Amino acid sequence: MKSDSSTYTPIKGGSLVEVLTAQAAPKPFTYAMPEGLEVLRGQLVNVPLGTKKSYGVVLGASHETIPANKLKSIYSVVDAPPLSGAMLDFILWVADYCMAPAGNILAMVLGGESAQKTPKKERAAKKEPEAQPVQKPTLSAEQNKAAGTLIKSLGSFSVTLLDGVTGSGKTETFCEAIAAAMKQGQQSLLMLPEISLTTQIFSRLAARFGQAPVLWHSGLTPAQRRKAWQAIAHGKAPLVIGARSALFLPFQNLGLIVVDEEHDGSYKQEEGVIYHARDMAVMRGKMQNIPVILSSATPSLETIVNMKAGRYGHVTLPQRHGEAKPPSIHLIDLREEKLTSKNFISPSLQTAIHAAIGRGEQALLFLNRRGYAPLTLCRACGYRFQCPSCSSWLVEHRQDGKHRLICHHCDYACTYPRACPSCKAEDKLAACGPGIERLAEEAKKLFPNARHAILASDTQNNLNEVQRIVDAMANSEIDILIGTQIVAKGYHFPKLTVVGVIDADLGLQGGDLRAAERTFQLLYQVAGRSGRSDDKGHVYLQTTQPQHAVMQNLTKHNRDGLIDVLIKEREKFHMPPFARLATLTLSGTNHAAITNAANDLARHIPVQNGFKVLGPAPAPMPLLRGRHRQRFLIQSPKSSKIQAFLRDWLSAAKPPKSIRLHIDIDPQSFV
Ligand code: ADP
Ligand code: ZN
Repeated sequence: MKSDSSTYTPIKGGSLVEVLTAQAAPKPFTYAMPEGLEVLRGQLVNVPLGTKKSYGVVLGASHETIPANKLKSIYSVVDAPPLSGAMLDFILWVADYCMAPAGNILAMVLGGESAQKTPKKERAAKKEPEAQPVQKPTLSAEQNKAAGTLIKSLGSFSVTLLDGVTGSGKTETFCEAIAAAMKQGQQSLLMLPEISLTTQIFSRLAARFGQAPVLWHSGLTPAQRRKAWQAIAHGKAPLVIGARSALFLPFQNLGLIVVDEEHDGSYKQEEGVIYHARDMAVMRGKMQNIPVILSSATPSLETIVNMKAGRYGHVTLPQRHGEAKPPSIHLIDLREEKLTSKNFISPSLQTAIHAAIGRGEQALLFLNRRGYAPLTLCRACGYRFQCPSCSSWLVEHRQDGKHRLICHHCDYACTYPRACPSCKAEDKLAACGPGIERLAEEAKKLFPNARHAILASDTQNNLNEVQRIVDAMANSEIDILIGTQIVAKGYHFPKLTVVGVIDADLGLQGGDLRAAERTFQLLYQVAGRSGRSDDKGHVYLQTTQPQHAVMQNLTKHNRDGLIDVLIKEREKFHMPPFARLATLTLSGTNHAAITNAANDLARHIPVQNGFKVLGPAPAPMPLLRGRHRQRFLIQSPKSSKIQAFLRDWLSAAKPPKSIRLHIDIDPQSFV
């Protein structure tokens, strides 16, 4: 399915065209063009498919011979400019790279179910909001210099790392480049890792540019979606802010992509088409010949290595804006300072919180674990509550007056029982370990007069609720905020001075390839929430591994020192970005069938220089949503084509249809 860039002349009625439909079809289909209709390559069209209708894109003229009684005609042409040759190439490239059907990538370009439908005439057409005066800060000399470099990059492909500590004004700086692109009549895409962040930045950017940006994320209503898609496709949205799926939108005149918090794991889509939005953004930039800005205070190792190799540019903002100083980071060694029974906030952290609240400042308690307790066990017989469909413990939840056990990997939930299902003993169940709700309970006991709020990714489903809590925190209507990783991201709370991390070691468990890198990024970002204005910030990390390189380098503000250690490690063990990885996971409801299929695949592993295949082995979660899982890990040299290897392999040994294959190129998560 090679695209043929020679077809730029209109294809007229009566001829045959090749159409890629927005489905998981193995190849494009041929359709007839009805008389009177004319299309260009890249034109979005509406076609019959089986007994249904489908959207599709015209790839060019078709030379297939199809019997007249089998030949179907295109229904209609979508009211949108045709996709450019570069955009079509991008779709096909992503499909090839991620080993996904091209039609599934096209579905993302189309923005979901019928986003491309022309909206019916709006009744008494709502007036567009009046343009506001532009509110633009005066940049510091450093910010100005950085902005100058970014502006100069407009007009052709390059990748630049905008590397600045939290609060240094990265947002203000890349806004200059967006403003310059706007002046040149080009569209910009600002990608954010989390939907909840779009709402906070929305008003800030609306004020900065004097006009509201267009939002794109999964929380839009169908009408909002249609309106946004139309504006983007017709080149009428100068600035689009979106989560990862926004990357595939059919911008008519895209001039700049900014990936904010580029290190963030949420850029990896783990379901459906499995892709990394940051990496795909770089490829889109390359194919469309436009610049890409990657912004972060804690860039990923991949990006740092690209920057050191000279493939990416580098602009830095080493200081916080204004008077704000970097926070002091203190380690609380939990082996020395013992916690009292059933308490999780150490005496030193309590003292620091008391003092901060006393001065009218705020505190943040961070624990990356939702619910009340991660494990429930029976004190009489030792029984532990496990999900019936997953290899994981059930998590106790108490919020909203409901006392339940919930699986965090599937939809399973049940009422919290009184008796142990195994030994039938009553009132013997015990909560083990803290979750965010249990921490909040302790904070309420310790600081009864303070105003508390919880911000967890549970709340995330409700954008308004997140916004309400974030606003209340920013307006000092909360004294102690208790949160999961959602609070680590990008928020600006001027009166927050004390951050307490309850379990700094949490992310280091499990032996994931990126455990140290991720833990550093997360703790650094959480720490960066404190002391962003006049008052100095203090961060307390409760840890049992104070000597760990992550903790040591955090206290010394020595990001680059840690990066050097991690880069050397990755190089030594031939791990990304110095090698390539892919995982192939087989899953199914029948355990024996999975084992057989995995063993059969193992007998057909192609022999190729430099390629190493580990497994099959049960995945770290051997049972997930009722499906048994066996995993292969493929490791290959940096320059190799891991996709071709996988294709060869899978054509030699085809597992039965009842078994699901899950291919993850450049895997980030190894559950
Ligand atoms: P980052 O994106 O690096 O975390 P921001 O751009 O959000 O930093 O800036 C942090 C805070 O400092 C924001 O409230 C921002 O408005 C303010 N700020 C940054 N640069 C300036 C400036 N030149 N003039 C005024 N305020 C600024
Ligand atoms: Zn489950």
